[in-house]
Amino acid sequence: MPRRWRRWVGAWRRWSLWMLLVALVVSMLVTLVWLAGRYEASQVQTRLERDTQDAVADIRKAFAQNIQSLQALQAHNPDLASWESRAAELLSARRELARIEWRDTQLRVRAHSETPYRPLHWDPAARSGTHSEIALACSNARRISGPSYSSSYFQPMPDGMGGEMLEVCLPLIDEGRLQGFLVATYALQTVLVDLVAPGLQRTQEVSFTEADGTRLALVGAMRRGSRMFTAQQLFDLPGTTLILRMDSWHTAPSVFPNVLTALVTAMSIALVSVLVVLVRDNRRRLSAERDLGDALAFRKAMEDSLVTGLRARDLHGRITYVNPAFCDMVGFSAAELVGQISPLPYWPPEHAQEYGERQVVRMSGGLHPPREGYESTFMRKDGTRFPVMIYEAPLINAHGLHTGWMGSFLDVSEQRRVEELSRTSQERLQATARLATVGEMASLLSHELNQPLAAISSYANGSLNLLESPGGAPDPHDLDDVRVAVQRIAQQAERAGRVIKSVHDFVRRRDQSRESVAAQDLFDAVLPIIRLQARKLDVRVALDIEEDLPPALCDRTMVEQVLLNLARNAMQAMDDPQIHPRILDLRVRRAASNVARSWLEFSVADMGVGISEDVAARLFTPFYTTRAEGMGLGLSLCRTVVEQHGGFMEHAPRAPRGTVFTFTLPATP
Ligand code: ADP
Repeated sequence: MPRRWRRWVGAWRRWSLWMLLVALVVSMLVTLVWLAGRYEASQVQTRLERDTQDAVADIRKAFAQNIQSLQALQAHNPDLASWESRAAELLSARRELARIEWRDTQLRVRAHSETPYRPLHWDPAARSGTHSEIALACSNARRISGPSYSSSYFQPMPDGMGGEMLEVCLPLIDEGRLQGFLVATYALQTVLVDLVAPGLQRTQEVSFTEADGTRLALVGAMRRGSRMFTAQQLFDLPGTTLILRMDSWHTAPSVFPNVLTALVTAMSIALVSVLVVLVRDNRRRLSAERDLGDALAFRKAMEDSLVTGLRARDLHGRITYVNPAFCDMVGFSAAELVGQISPLPYWPPEHAQEYGERQVVRMSGGLHPPREGYESTFMRKDGTRFPVMIYEAPLINAHGLHTGWMGSFLDVSEQRRVEELSRTSQERLQATARLATVGEMASLLSHELNQPLAAISSYANGSLNLLESPGGAPDPHDLDDVRVAVQRIAQQAERAGRVIKSVHDFVRRRDQSRESVAAQDLFDAVLPIIRLQARKLDVRVALDIEEDLPPALCDRTMVEQVLLNLARNAMQAMDDPQIHPRILDLRVRRAASNVARSWLEFSVADMGVGISEDVAARLFTPFYTTRAEGMGLGLSLCRTVVEQHGGFMEHAPRAPRGTVFTFTLPATP
């Protein structure tokens, strides 16, 4: 959870940085556009104000020139007719002048002339009143002894239209005395048309206004566009003040007021894009670098932890790389090995020539190293030799070019030592096994022959006793007994011979001769010997064989031996003065069987001392015995015999005391 949270915080921080950057760029662009727009507007405004000033200056200059021209009319005391013709001349030259009058000191009109360009309707009454504009201008002109202008007024025209007029009154002074006045009338509209309009732009409109903004005369284009710029300039004349106003219309400014702004915008977009690409590229490169670093570290760790020596050589046999395991193996450092060429320092001098020749052949491509590797001998730095397995393969680079050879090396000295050890121990084992077989055979023979020999000895002693009767010649009845005893001796000797043979076969693990023998026959063969010992030990022998038993399929002699061994052990277990009665139970019955095979179960039960847990654990171990004269081979032999027949052997305590040994044998099908 905290890990995911940390990743989320990281992503959020990255994103917010990007947003900040974008916001910064956008706000910069907006500011730039706004500043550019403002700059452009201020440029337009300045130009307009300059134009207005120029227009006012033009009008002022023209008015001043007109004053001079008017004064020129009075030169050389003209008569009325010549004055009028000169005035008409002046009027046709200066279109802005509508009328010129020559008035006396009482402001009565002496002569006048009108513009030939527009017919005007002059009302003499309005022009002669003492309160008319002319009277006011002229009284002012007299006071200041110079030209004075009236306020503007509307003059209707015959066509029903009209125009705003402005009078200028010029006092005529000769030798310090007022002689009269010159009154000239300006048509304001024409002033604008003739003096200002030629320099006017299409988007501009110029007008004379009063202080309160009322338009008196106007020239210019129709209103277009949405943005309006206005400039006003005071146009003061002696006696009156007009305002010249200039309006300029502009179309709505474009988003990018000029090419520069567009360029800067494009550049910043390009810059941000390049930045994005760079950052992404950088991030990809970082991750690639990290992956490469990991891969390199992994490779290094792998090479260092390898127990196999690695060595690379170029096509000339020069060592280009060795790993730490190789250095450990030969005892030379990497610096001592890399760059070395034949003969290499770890070649034993006695083999150097052979190795050198072999290498030349291999490098020339004449001999391909075997896939399963080859064995060689190397020399450590301390001079000791050791065997190595070499697996070498061509080194192919990323472009598929054969650039050298890569070899892996295994120090096989330990392997060789183990092999040597195991070979000698194998030999020793075989010798021991042979000895063991001989020993086993000897032990078995001596063990198994004990019984027939003991029997023979007791029969022989018995016979001798009978023959050495005190009466001299033996009793004919005793002679019969002796005959029987001698027969038994012969039987036992034969039996001893059979024992020797079967033990011999047994030891050599030959196939036993299996025969079908009735349980009764088996007991018939061993009971005389058992009874012999039983009589000596005061044991009663009880035999119980189940009715209608199938005969057993077995090696007769060996099974008889098993029965003898078990019976003898049982009787020895009861050889204790405390134990009474002493009964040996011998039993045969059918054991659990299946369809394929039926089994017989033999049991030998005693009422002896029983088997302690300690003894039970080692019962079947060869040579384990608790008796001074015992050999400890009886039970181990019994079990081997039974198991060789496919049966099994076990023992269990018997109530109230004693032990039961049971074993199974296959029945004849
Ligand atoms: P040995 O008879 O030569 O001692 P065995 O292998 O026949 O060797 O018997 C091993 C030991 O098992 C005997 O020394 C004895 O202590 C114990 N043993 C065998 N049979 C019996 C038995 N029926 N009752 C008690 N102890 C027995």
